[in-house]
Amino acid sequence: MIIVLKSGSTQADIDHISEKLHEKGLKVHVSQGEERTIIGAIGDERILREAALAAYPAVEKVLPILKPFKLASRDFHKEDTRITIGDTVIGSNEICVIAGPCSVETREGLLEVARSVKKSGAKLLRGGAFKPRSSPYAFQGLGEEGLRYLAQARDETGLKVVTELMDPRDAELVDRYADMIQIGARNMSNFNLLKEVGKMKKPVLLKRGLSSTVKEWLMSAEYILDEGNMDVILCERGVRTFETETRNTLDLSCVPLVQGMSHLPIIVDPSHAVGRADLVAPMCMAAVAAGTDGLLIEVHENPEDALCDGPQSLRLEDFASLMKNIKSLARALGREL
Ligand code: PEP
Ligand code: MN
Repeated sequence: MIIVLKSGSTQADIDHISEKLHEKGLKVHVSQGEERTIIGAIGDERILREAALAAYPAVEKVLPILKPFKLASRDFHKEDTRITIGDTVIGSNEICVIAGPCSVETREGLLEVARSVKKSGAKLLRGGAFKPRSSPYAFQGLGEEGLRYLAQARDETGLKVVTELMDPRDAELVDRYADMIQIGARNMSNFNLLKEVGKMKKPVLLKRGLSSTVKEWLMSAEYILDEGNMDVILCERGVRTFETETRNTLDLSCVPLVQGMSHLPIIVDPSHAVGRADLVAPMCMAAVAAGTDGLLIEVHENPEDALCDGPQSLRLEDFASLMKNIKSLARALGREL
């Protein structure tokens, strides 16, 4: 249920209504937009009806949220959610580019990539320390050592870092090093993990599941929001189809689709979608044309020797020239990079 307050309503009105809802055992989320305040009350619809909310003087109207996702929906929060991280705001006019290797491999390699992508205009450095590999025999990541290298790269370059959390038991450890927590495609429906990051105070990059619908993805975001963490960034990374020439199929139509359904920022990861370095640049341009809030691009100092996802990783110089092209396109579209 959405409770829209009259303009000019005070903090005391918000507190009073919230308290009454709490007493009835309902969950309360307040969204204070520029124009109006909305209280989202979540719980048993029958109790909500009984609460006679429209009778409160500060209440303008009471509306049901018909969609299964409530806090993630545009009905609950009209304005775009903007997430400030370092010197960038994700969900703004600026296109935020996150770049780095699939996995953190060596300190020197990571530093080389970090320095280079920073120079080219990336705003965040990515790199997995805990890797969700299809084979138990493949490189599983450096663990805490990898997290330390990420922190060193941040200290040297000023780039904020994003890394994947796979297991709630590592939450405290990853939280100590990362500026943004990634939930990988394979864990989009790991609800205990989603609840765990919902309790954390860091922005969460939530990748779309391998075969998940947009609704299922938004329901996963809802798990995080419901725990009180409102800083969720959605990431489209391709979905499984019958096509085998590409690793997955990039669903670009989900960018404007999600922007209509939800206030959360959405970024695009063409690297995991196509799985081939030669297709990454055109898909980055297409994603910008589709209105993405950002891009996640895998970059490696020497893709042939990468321990993970080498075939889809861009060389440093190719990333640099792609960034120039993105900048020109962004300008033409009235966006910034
Ligand atoms: C990754 O970002 O390296 C990764 C494993 O991505 P995904 O979860 O989208 O497969
Ligand atoms: Mn990867």
